[in-house]
Amino acid sequence: MYKLSPSEFAYLYEECKLCYFLKIKQGIERPKSPFPGVFSALNTRLQGALIGNDLRKLSSVLPEGTVESQEGFIESQQVTNTNVYIKGKYDLLVRQPDNTYLIVDFKISQPSEEKIAKYQRQLQAYHYAFEHPARGEAKNITKLGLIIMYPDQVKFNDGQASITFPPQWMEIDIKKDSFLEFMKGVHTLLEGPPPSENPNCRWCKYRHIGEKLTHPQQTDIPF
Ligand code: SF4
Repeated sequence: MYKLSPSEFAYLYEECKLCYFLKIKQGIERPKSPFPGVFSALNTRLQGALIGNDLRKLSSVLPEGTVESQEGFIESQQVTNTNVYIKGKYDLLVRQPDNTYLIVDFKISQPSEEKIAKYQRQLQAYHYAFEHPARGEAKNITKLGLIIMYPDQVKFNDGQASITFPPQWMEIDIKKDSFLEFMKGVHTLLEGPPPSENPNCRWCKYRHIGEKLTHPQQTDIPF
């Protein structure tokens, strides 16, 4: 069985099927770019301030519910009619007043409608894993969404700079059937031959030019 990470549905899977195939089947990862530590620090502090709180009390634009856990791992059973399963780390699990749950992904980013489409599969994958957990009891998830925060105003006062991060809420529709269709597509991709590379990707252009220059006599360079 292949382990699939929900966060890779938003980026790697969309960017290049070959890179995705190599990562999942052979553990070959594209080189990582450095990630500025300030984003992790902001993310941890902002998310940490939510734990144990009712979202609605923190901001009137957020849905009601108490944040029960943060950055937990969840793993699913084998997805129906495939040889894949989901394993990943969600951002926030929120218990709603009716005792059903809400899964939130937390983003420090500019809000836009495109984000809803971009993160739909990621959140739907967490939804599947919570409803079909590899261990423990299933949770009834009735809502998915993004809390998006982006720095707004800056004030200097008494030697301190304060930046405001007004939260925004973007709800994501639950689409169980289309997620299962998507999972079947991923299964088919992984069971088939290596797909084509993305012709616009600079990593592969670099790789091919580098190979030509350094191994000009070798014509059958494998992936
Ligand atoms: S084109 Fe090559 S390096 Fe770029 S994403 Fe695809 S396989 Fe990876």
